[in-house]
Amino acid sequence: MPELKPTSLLGLDLQELTALVENAGQPGYRARQLFEAIYAQRADSPEHISTLPQEFRRSLQEQGFSVGLPSIEKKFQSIDGTVRYLISFADGQSVETVWMPEGDNGEAGDGSEAGDESGSARRWDRATICISSQVGCAVDCQFCLTALLGVKRNLSAGEIVGQVTTVLKDQGVWPGRDRINLVFMGMGEPFLNYANFIKAVRLLVEGVGISESRMTVSTAGIVPRIHDLGQEPVRPKLAISLNASNDELRNRLMPINCKWNLEMLVSAAREFPLRNRERLTFEYVLLNEVNDSMANAREVVELVRGLRVKVNLIALNPGPDIPFTTPQEARVLAFQQVLVAAGIPTFIRRPRGRDIFAACGQLKRTVA
Ligand code: SAH
Repeated sequence: MPELKPTSLLGLDLQELTALVENAGQPGYRARQLFEAIYAQRADSPEHISTLPQEFRRSLQEQGFSVGLPSIEKKFQSIDGTVRYLISFADGQSVETVWMPEGDNGEAGDGSEAGDESGSARRWDRATICISSQVGCAVDCQFCLTALLGVKRNLSAGEIVGQVTTVLKDQGVWPGRDRINLVFMGMGEPFLNYANFIKAVRLLVEGVGISESRMTVSTAGIVPRIHDLGQEPVRPKLAISLNASNDELRNRLMPINCKWNLEMLVSAAREFPLRNRERLTFEYVLLNEVNDSMANAREVVELVRGLRVKVNLIALNPGPDIPFTTPQEARVLAFQQVLVAAGIPTFIRRPRGRDIFAACGQLKRTVA
């Protein structure tokens, strides 16, 4: 048990719940019941957990325990089906979580290809939830709106998991029955909140029931944590935000590169133990006439040579105070062509929810 008694059950693992029920003089198996009620059934209050005896439910409440589900402060609906949620926590801080249903032939939010759903009666065939790991972000990438917020604080494991259960609940969706992908690509740098991020992953797999093979975490390049992730028995797939093809450019666009440069980043990628049929993803935001030339594309080819990777190209999603412009489609296609010709699977990410400021790099809690 943590030293400070938590008031929120969400975020506790089976071991911590076992300590809690035993302290309360209850049999150990009640921990499993609590675990299932919180993570799989999405109970909103101990009072409503009908598998537990009345007197135990009451004593949990008397001790100040709540489930601790975050609340939906606002919801923005895009014309493309994307929903941006502004989700707030007990201390009043908030983050954004994005729901992206897939019902066409486009590319899924996790970078895989959506199937052909023509003729399907269903509104969507799979969905991706993009979750945040921190309130704001400390990394200071020059093209990203979240950077403008600075970092306010880390999210707890319970707050990370809570985004998922809250959105699943709001959408009336059940993992197991519905195909749900998760991407840790919202606000924040997950690898600067590593312990809570990885604990959340375990709770999402064991409790909420989403397979690790349906999860992808994206990092700006916190090299030591790339090594750590490779050692985890349960882990998402890895995506790395490359965004530049040489150190001079990357230092300028992503100051984190001054700490861990391209050579360190690429060698961490090289050492990363991939599972059967798994690939690394490199993301590359294209900034008009800054990092999107043919010469840049050829440098990317050299950087990733010999790696089992695919590359996702993202044409800049513009925003106020972002000093870059979006390249024309022809430039994006030409860049892609250089990589494809070198044998690198390269996809162009379709922006999701740009009209509601929900797309990559646009999450800054815009409320209008
Ligand atoms: N901090 C992590 C997780 C955020 S993922 C990371 O950097 O990987 C966000 C993705 O969106 C990153 O690949 C980032 O490069 C990309 N991105 C950031 N700003 C963007 C913008 N304005 N337009 C398009 N993509 C952007």
